[in-house]
This record gives sequence, C-alpha cells and structure tokens, in this order.
Amino acid sequence: MAVRAVVFDWGGTLTPWHDIDLVAQWYAYAETYDPEHASALAHRLAEAETARWAVQRDSQGAQSAGALDQIFLDEGIDITEARHLRALGCYLDFWDPHTIADPQARPLFEVLRARGLRIGVLSNTMWPSTHHREVFERDDLAELIDAAAYTSEMPVAKPHRDAFHAILDALGVQPVEAAYVGDRLWDDVAGAQQVGMRAIWIPHSDIPSEQVPDDSARPDAVAHQLADIPGILDSWA
Ligand SMILES: [Mg+2]
Repeated sequence: MAVRAVVFDWGGTLTPWHDIDLVAQWYAYAETYDPEHASALAHRLAEAETARWAVQRDSQGAQSAGALDQIFLDEGIDITEARHLRALGCYLDFWDPHTIADPQARPLFEVLRARGLRIGVLSNTMWPSTHHREVFERDDLAELIDAAAYTSEMPVAKPHRDAFHAILDALGVQPVEAAYVGDRLWDDVAGAQQVGMRAIWIPHSDIPSEQVPDDSARPDAVAHQLADIPGILDSWA
C-alpha cells in the first residue's frame, strides 16, 4: 500500500534536540510570578511537571500528562491573573530558542506536498495547541501541516494506540497508508508500529534513560537527517 501521509513527532524530530534544565525553565516563570520565592516555586513546578510525565510513562500513555494550565491550577495560581500571563510569557521566551524548526523541515514538507502526501504532527506535550501553532507559524511550517494532534488536549499520549489513531483519523488515512517519523524508540517507533504504521527513526536525541522504558523497537528505516525521508519513501514504493 502506498504511503499517503507522513506524521511527525515534534521535539527532537522537527526541532533539533536540546537538553532543557527543567528547573531553569520554571525559574524563568517563577522570577516574574513571585520574585521573592522564585526558587522554591520553580522547584515545585518542576516537580509537578516531572510527576505528570511519570504518570504518562508508567501508564504507557493510557493517561496523558495533561495540560500546562493544570500545573498552575494545582499550585493555586489564578491563570487569568495578569502576573501569571506575564510570567507565562517569560516561560515561553525561555523556550523560544529551543523550538526553532530544523532548517530542512520546510523544504521536506514542500517535497512531500508536491508528491501529494498529507502531513501530520502528533506530539506528546503539555502545551496548548495555540502555542504550537504560533511556533509553526513563526517557522513558516503552519500552512503545510494538514492536521496536528497534541496530547495536552487528549486523554491519552504516545505510545498509546488511540493517540496514533487520532491523527490518522484527522488525516483521513489508514495506518498502512501512513509513516511516522520520530526520535524515540518507545513512544514513537513502537507506538506507530503497533497500530500498523511504518516508523522512521531519527537517532540523534540524547533522551534520558528513565524516559525509555523499552528500547527494543526496530524502526522500518533510520533517517539521519530530515532530507533523507523522500528517499526512504521511494525505497518503499
Ligand atoms: Mg520527540
């Protein structure tokens, strides 16, 4: 069956992998929200985030980590308050340099579109879709993405099969008609293959071992750069 759609992971796949210090990320928020107690607040928010990712991992994606706003609400933060919105802006500014798309992403999307393929994104994320859309718009990718699914807005997450079916349904394709591209063997490669998609692995992310419960998946192909993907699809045709 010919491939009609390619679905991409986001972090470490469409963006090059960056090591992020979880506490530093939250310090960027906390020093604006509550300068006097910034360090303690940053540590609490980092711990809350880590706990949510752990629930997601331990449930094998049956329970997603949820939405970023839930971390603030659990901390008793009023998410409509101006100082929260200012602090959230600082948090997003911290992330800005780490979310820049791989320069090969747009040319790849153009090649795939020219071949009549549909393009999807499926990301394990706590960010709302609005944040992701802004990032894709900044990097001139948004107009080339046919459908995107973010687990912040879903009950499940990768590698759960329902996460993959959500993006397949949004793209209107069957699993055998779709390839998945991701940088994680467990969440991405094993997850996509279990629903019948072919999986392309990008092997350059320095993923902490505690985030890889099982690395036994074997990808259908390995792409050392995004530009390798059209050739991989050709080899399957
Ligand atoms: Mg990734």
